[in-house]
Amino acid sequence: MRNYTQFYIDGRWVDPVTPNTADVINPATEEVSGTISLGSPADVDAAVAAARRAFATYGESSVKERLDLLEAIQAEYLRRETELGEAIMEEMGAPRGLACGFHTLLGKGHLGTAIEVLRDFKFEEQRGVTVIRKEPIGVCGLITPWNWPMNQTCVKIFPALAAGCTMILKPPQLAPYSAQILAEILHDAGVPAGVFNMVQGQGSVIGAALSKHEDVDMISFTGSEQVGVQIQKDAADTVKRVGLELGGKSAWIVLDDASLAANVASATAGMMGNSGQTCSAGSRLLVPAARLDEVRKAAAEAAGGVTVGNPQGEVAMGPVVSKSQYNIIQQYIEQGLAEGAELITGGLGRPDGLDKGWYVKPTVFVGTNDMVISREEIFGPVLVIIPYTDVDDAVRIANDSNFGLGGYVSGEDLEACRAISRRLRTGAIWVNGGFDFHAPFGGYKRSGNGREWGEHGFHEYLEVKSIIGLPAPA
Ligand code: NDP
Repeated sequence: MRNYTQFYIDGRWVDPVTPNTADVINPATEEVSGTISLGSPADVDAAVAAARRAFATYGESSVKERLDLLEAIQAEYLRRETELGEAIMEEMGAPRGLACGFHTLLGKGHLGTAIEVLRDFKFEEQRGVTVIRKEPIGVCGLITPWNWPMNQTCVKIFPALAAGCTMILKPPQLAPYSAQILAEILHDAGVPAGVFNMVQGQGSVIGAALSKHEDVDMISFTGSEQVGVQIQKDAADTVKRVGLELGGKSAWIVLDDASLAANVASATAGMMGNSGQTCSAGSRLLVPAARLDEVRKAAAEAAGGVTVGNPQGEVAMGPVVSKSQYNIIQQYIEQGLAEGAELITGGLGRPDGLDKGWYVKPTVFVGTNDMVISREEIFGPVLVIIPYTDVDDAVRIANDSNFGLGGYVSGEDLEACRAISRRLRTGAIWVNGGFDFHAPFGGYKRSGNGREWGEHGFHEYLEVKSIIGLPAPA
């Protein structure tokens, strides 16, 4: 049992102003795995005051000082990486291999990338008679979701630290453990008091208090569209900057010249990864209509090969994060059946042999783009295959979405892939796979407005100042 009932404020672990605890449930067993405290606006006030005090000095720190700090954090992170992975496994149900692998690797990757970018980042440049300075925006509220806990927190914390900002993290109630360990890592690495603070609790209380706070300069939020809209409204009165990373319904276009079976198999397995709880997942698989039979077979085989079970074991897929998420996914599967989508594999209920834990069957439909299951983000292991007639039709379907976060194009002819990628209205497109920590990540349309990852992630936390009338020294 984990007992994490204190918050991290001003360099110390402190009790909440008003005691209020909540159980944390292990989604693999439905059992209580530990306890956290739920904070109140008074805890937020204390954390913001500490961050404001610390900003006076940390905001003036040198690049060398910040590099040294990030490197010290890197050493601590590496030391406790397995512990972080195990916490992720327990809190949100990712299988051990994934939790101790890609989950923690993402956090480590953002940390390493922040160090790399900071070494060469130009905080000041001369343009004619003007000096253009990039200065830390100040006190930041970081509000994160549970689906990739280390990715979502580290992609905010490390660029913010590199930029010279101070911050208050509000982790998700469903995945509070890894954030707690991360706070310990930052403390042990010597982050100065008040630079990083963490208050656990309900989004509608802690998140809202941060969003409305007079002394918070920006909010960086990752999560649902609905909450993103609320945060913008809450932040409007204080005109603070709001960076939003929201949902997606990304299309994966398999072109006719691609190896169909291999690509359908990897798109299907990819959709089931992390139990489908990935904002940029290719949840609409667009395939040539003439080859639908081949696609059905390949997708059914790939989904059937996804092993589901207790995350402690050697499985490809664990449970989804919570009972409520399980119920939402079941409703979407019912909706797909009701609106006439063809169920290829999976469907309602838990996989055979699993009667406890929030396990969902890897599910594949063939449908059309106007169905609810093609338009709304299910955030579960449910793939919708949509046939297209030609490339123009594929691009039209891909763009016919309220979201614009990710996109995937698979094909042998890279120039054709390039041409299609240019026509897609989304923030990131992966051509035949590929991965890059320096590639900016964020959404078009209702997928948000920010750009995280790499150098672009720094700009989220910087103000731009022009000092006009200062030519370069002779
Ligand atoms: P939510 O939007 O419900 O929650 C995200 C965070 O916001 C949580 O910490 C939550 O707290 C907090 N929150 C809730 N209400 C408020 C409020 N009124 N003011 C401020 N903060 C609040 O999303 P989920 O965590 O349920 O994640 C699933 C959704 O997030 C999906 O739609 C998914 O697509 C999207 N997402 C997008 C990503 C991206 O990079 N674009 C990445 C990951 C997820 P609490 O713990 O109390 O719920």
